[in-house]
Amino acid sequence: MPKTKAEEPIDYGFVKLPKDLIAEVDAYVGKHGYRSRTEIIKEAIRRLMATYPRDVKPVLEHYNLDQHGVRVLDRSLNPPNGLIVDVYFKPDANNRVLTFCEHDQTERCRHVEFALDLPEVQKIFHEKGWKPK
Ligand SMILES: [Zn+2]
Repeated sequence: MPKTKAEEPIDYGFVKLPKDLIAEVDAYVGKHGYRSRTEIIKEAIRRLMATYPRDVKPVLEHYNLDQHGVRVLDRSLNPPNGLIVDVYFKPDANNRVLTFCEHDQTERCRHVEFALDLPEVQKIFHEKGWKPK
């Protein structure tokens, strides 16, 4: 089994390449510091990937919201799919709104801050005359 320098087994996948392309790659083995066709192909793939922007999705995204609260998708929890976190709004008689994150069991956390910063939530608070506590 192939080993790294640290003697850790590593996984490999396989791709098929046309023989004429492999012959072109082989012409560079032993030149420019490359010792094998694999080194050249890995370097070529890394350089190609570096030319494209990474498709990074936001860590927090709102999933669903209304006057009762916001469902927040947190991709940092349970990656890669993330975890749905519920943030609740509970207005009192004075229109002061208690916020609560079910996941963190607290009134203030990044999920609550994220929910309160959403323009749709600010619109609901404005229309109802609500103020966060
Ligand atoms: Zn939270």
